[in-house]
Amino acid sequence: MTGGLIHRELRINAYGSFLRRRFGCRVSKVNVDGGFTCPNRDGSRGTGGCIYCDNSSFSPKGTLAVIPIEEQMAAGMAYHRIRLKSDRFIVYFQKFTNTYAPVARLSELYRRALDHPDVVGISVGTRPDSITDQAIDLLSELARDRYVCVELGLQSMDDAILAGINRGHTLAEYLNTVQRLAGRGIDICTHLIYGFPGESRSGFLKGARLISELPVNSLKLHQLHAVRGTRLAQLYREGSYTPITLSEYIETTCDFLEELPARISIQRLYGSAPLAIRVAPNWDLKNNQMWYAVVNELKRRGSWQGCRTGGEVRAANGEW
Ligand code: SF4
Repeated sequence: MTGGLIHRELRINAYGSFLRRRFGCRVSKVNVDGGFTCPNRDGSRGTGGCIYCDNSSFSPKGTLAVIPIEEQMAAGMAYHRIRLKSDRFIVYFQKFTNTYAPVARLSELYRRALDHPDVVGISVGTRPDSITDQAIDLLSELARDRYVCVELGLQSMDDAILAGINRGHTLAEYLNTVQRLAGRGIDICTHLIYGFPGESRSGFLKGARLISELPVNSLKLHQLHAVRGTRLAQLYREGSYTPITLSEYIETTCDFLEELPARISIQRLYGSAPLAIRVAPNWDLKNNQMWYAVVNELKRRGSWQGCRTGGEVRAANGEW
């Protein structure tokens, strides 16, 4: 895919397709736990964390910091080789804030991940307020000959919402970090969530226009959901948080995608938590069912990612 063209059948510039085009084979992300913590939990930025945060809700079993990352990688790669027939891998430092350590520690961990012959790159999840210039220099150096992606959790572009969810950073900090990362050979991914208490659909859609104007390469989007043991779950029980409905989420996601340029690939369109800890909402859909629910709504509308920004659709021709 090039520029603003979107494949008619796919409707969305999916990240998996981007990886296949870039590396010429199926590439899977393998999660590892690098043993980091988070400045929004340890008191340096805040305590208690974001109101929805329970890392067990987004960390696969078996990624424990006490296990050497080589072992974590081997287990993840074996799983993806069998399940998805993947040949190459991106090591994903996901849990907590994966740039929140001295740069020497970061260098050692990232290089150990990149040492494996089947690893094509790394993806590093972090907060916009927790990545130093030295860490960016390191990532930029690694990106000279490997794929390096930094995943910045923005979650909302509304500072009032960010304060309300105890996020501990502002939109201005996110914008500053995007500018510091830009032009350094590092791919930038942004995370956004829809459905915060007090959030409107129109307010959320402003995020598509903001991201459109930034050098962002990929996006992760999901619905707000409450999991057991979080402040959000408590608000739900008290009646102070009402989850959005499935139809509201799908319609808004489609509106969002229509405004998002086709050059930005989509890594995620939903969030899922294990049933055992999920509190609300309970949509009872598998991950791929959620993805196709969005694609089918775009088809029903006759629209596609970027169609409101001048992006074109092209017929399937088997090229990708
Ligand atoms: S920044 Fe991430 S790890 Fe830290 S409290 Fe928020 S959601 Fe949890």
